[in-house]
Amino acid sequence: MGDVHQLLDLDRAHVWHPYGPMPGTVTPYVVESASGVRLRLAEPVAGHRELVDGMSSWWAAIHGYRHPVLDEAVRDQLGRMSHVMFGGLTHEPAVRLAARLVEITPAPLQHVFLADSGSVAVEVALKMCLQYWRSVGRPAKRRVLTWRGGYHGDTFHPMSVCDPEGGMHQLWGGVLPRQLFAGEPPAGFDAPVDEAYAASLADLVERHADELAAVIVEPVVQGAGGMRFHSPAYLRLLRELCDAHGVLLVFDEIATGFGRSGALFAADHAAVSPDVMCLGKALTGGYLTMAATLCTAEIADGISRGEVPVLAHGPTFMGNPLAAAAANASLDLLLGQDWAQEVKRIGAGLVAGLAPLAGAPGVRDVRVLGAIGVVQLDHPVDMRAATEAAAREGVWLRPFRDLVYTMPPYVTGDDDLARITAGVTAAAVAG
Ligand SMILES: *Cc1c(COP(=O)(O)O)cnc(C)c1O
Repeated sequence: MGDVHQLLDLDRAHVWHPYGPMPGTVTPYVVESASGVRLRLAEPVAGHRELVDGMSSWWAAIHGYRHPVLDEAVRDQLGRMSHVMFGGLTHEPAVRLAARLVEITPAPLQHVFLADSGSVAVEVALKMCLQYWRSVGRPAKRRVLTWRGGYHGDTFHPMSVCDPEGGMHQLWGGVLPRQLFAGEPPAGFDAPVDEAYAASLADLVERHADELAAVIVEPVVQGAGGMRFHSPAYLRLLRELCDAHGVLLVFDEIATGFGRSGALFAADHAAVSPDVMCLGKALTGGYLTMAATLCTAEIADGISRGEVPVLAHGPTFMGNPLAAAAANASLDLLLGQDWAQEVKRIGAGLVAGLAPLAGAPGVRDVRVLGAIGVVQLDHPVDMRAATEAAAREGVWLRPFRDLVYTMPPYVTGDDDLARITAGVTAAAVAG
């Protein structure tokens, strides 16, 4: 690696980072390599050359970094082809992956669109729903209902269903399609159903059924919109309401998919199937960018009987063989072990390590579900102070808003897990 300071100068001058200004105002840490659950830095931070990863690179790296099985799968695929176009051609890695996703997701989901990022998977999901209603002669059904506190991606239609306060709706007034919003789902995975809230959902779906194409939600866990958990009972309710009023139901499982919430898919907690499901993030074990949109036979048939009988979407890198090979290997790894036990073990470690923070000054709430640990402060977090405090404990965290949170790789050992909770604690106190 060249001179680190030269690299950082070039970074600041030319490179956008997520949600960042230009030029950048906060100096990022330079990562030289990563292995297992450790990020190796080009330069020590607070005396640490390596940081234990508490983020799984935003929910994705569930098996950690440089996993020998995933490395080998990608190398093997590299020896055949990195990519070929998916129009008019097909290949084993993508077909096997699609068939496998159909097998492990709820039974009604039968058809798979392989997209290249989560936001695109959500675009495709919404396009499927709107096109379905056009195809069956109900073009007025083109609005989407969601609940507040959600996050569905950064391209325009996904942005329109992100939380209107956290999701930059103000900036984009007049540009984003105006969707329908219910209140935030009442907090708590185990909380009893709030009947008034349930009635408000029912009222919204019923009153707007004629213009509603779909309801889209993140099931059980709202991620980047606020790291909140809710009861699976609301998913069963949405399923009933959508069935009763002829509205499609979309579950965005891009963050929750592949075990993170304690069930393989969060929909499994509720034992319901959506009409459309989006997957991404951990799909390739965090190796390459790929996402998927699954739909029922009814939606596919509806689209295919329409005036324009095709789904007009086809990214250049659709079905990318390297990404599909990584995804197949990641699924082999995940399903070839007692993943539920590992997620439970991590959850228990998070509960034990974060418990002392409950009731601490500045802390509003501490919550854990599956392998997700969240500390909510009673003030906006000082991102730089919190990040540095975690780094002093040898841990990589990326706090935001009023949240210090972690979703460790499933392979995190108990000692490293204790280090992560010490890092979260330090960040919560400093931030
Ligand atoms: C991350 C995320 C997305 C967007 O995925 P990208 O790959 O970043 O485009 C959409 N929905 C949810 C629930 C997510 O967590």
